[in-house]
Amino acid sequence: MSEQANPFESLQEQIDDAAEYLDASPDVLERLKHPQRILETNLSVEMDDGSIETFKAFRSQFNGDRGPYKGGIRYHPNVSRDEVKALSGWMVYKTAVVDIPYGGGKGGIIIDPDEYSEAELERVTRSFAKELRPFIGVDQDIPAPDVNTGQREMNWIKDTYEKLENTTEPGVITGKALESGGSEGRVEATGRSTMLTAREAFDYLGKEMDGATVAVQGYGNAGWISAKLLEDLGANIVAVSDSSGAIHNPDGLHARDVKDHKNETGSVVGYAGAETELSNEELLTLDVDLLVPAALENAIDGDLARDVQADVIVEAANGPLTPDADDVLTERDVYVFPDILANAGGVTVSYFEWVQNRQRFYWSEERVNEELEDIIVSAFDDLTSAYEENDLPNFRTAAYVVSLQRVIDAYSESGNWP
Ligand code: GLU
Repeated sequence: MSEQANPFESLQEQIDDAAEYLDASPDVLERLKHPQRILETNLSVEMDDGSIETFKAFRSQFNGDRGPYKGGIRYHPNVSRDEVKALSGWMVYKTAVVDIPYGGGKGGIIIDPDEYSEAELERVTRSFAKELRPFIGVDQDIPAPDVNTGQREMNWIKDTYEKLENTTEPGVITGKALESGGSEGRVEATGRSTMLTAREAFDYLGKEMDGATVAVQGYGNAGWISAKLLEDLGANIVAVSDSSGAIHNPDGLHARDVKDHKNETGSVVGYAGAETELSNEELLTLDVDLLVPAALENAIDGDLARDVQADVIVEAANGPLTPDADDVLTERDVYVFPDILANAGGVTVSYFEWVQNRQRFYWSEERVNEELEDIIVSAFDDLTSAYEENDLPNFRTAAYVVSLQRVIDAYSESGNWP
């Protein structure tokens, strides 16, 4: 991962790139490049041995012009204020690109969850939930899972909030287990939107998905589900990786078997069906039809982008390409379908979960997947129309042109106050 790119600066550059094609005043744009507010808090939590450890945590509420702030909470040692700011901004444009009635927010705790027991993680999570309580709410700010968090953490946050508020309000948080008011299809939703985006992209570009070679960087929830669903479309997953390393087989790996191996051993490395092991860079520069970065920010910088041999990149992670990488790939005619569309399935099914929670009426998995497909396909069409009509340099700029305009329209309809 490149050390240089600051994700918050990347976000601002992406907005500036799109603003060239929009008729927006610089004052309004300035407003859209900074978070409205950030909570920074230090959580003092009792460890199993009785000692007290302090963890820094953030929640950034970037923009609420189109609805309540919405976005995940990440647990990672590299969480920083600027990373949370960037991720919260990307949520604003993600919810706008798929046109769901939310703004954008994001949270994070500086912690390596592997180093702590489940009881310690529960106390850390409940402590953060207590700090978040005055800022979140079903119509204010709705957190969700992100890197290293999932149903377990969401259930704890919901429970803490409901106990402190003496209420029943499952829609205060999404990504919960089904038994705690979660939605069918939520776990698979991010990978499903990546698959749908790749499917639409291949169709748009006149490429065949059946037999297409695919490399996937990252085998967490987004990466592994993307791999599985792309394989179901007939694609050939030739390489995958996780933080321990990468594996390759030109004849294809079996996504589900790789996942079983990872569940058993903790890593994709050592999978019996792999022919060779690769470095992270080798995986990212493989000659494949489709590359899916599904790990963290800054996976591909300008230098590495010169060596990328994939024809198409579909971003399952948030911010995996630096702006320099975008410039190089645009120049080299590598088509990049951006994160704010390709991983928007997560927040879209979070929206469905929130709707179901509010109505106390629950949908079938089939309905969830159908409604998700409608939203992703229509967002894809909006993006390609903007790309063609404005003769835009790449699809990321198209996604920002569409989404910035939606946020600006909402803001100008409301007016500035006070
Ligand atoms: N963390 C996910 C994202 O980056 C999901 C957010 C949500 O469901 O609110 O889009």
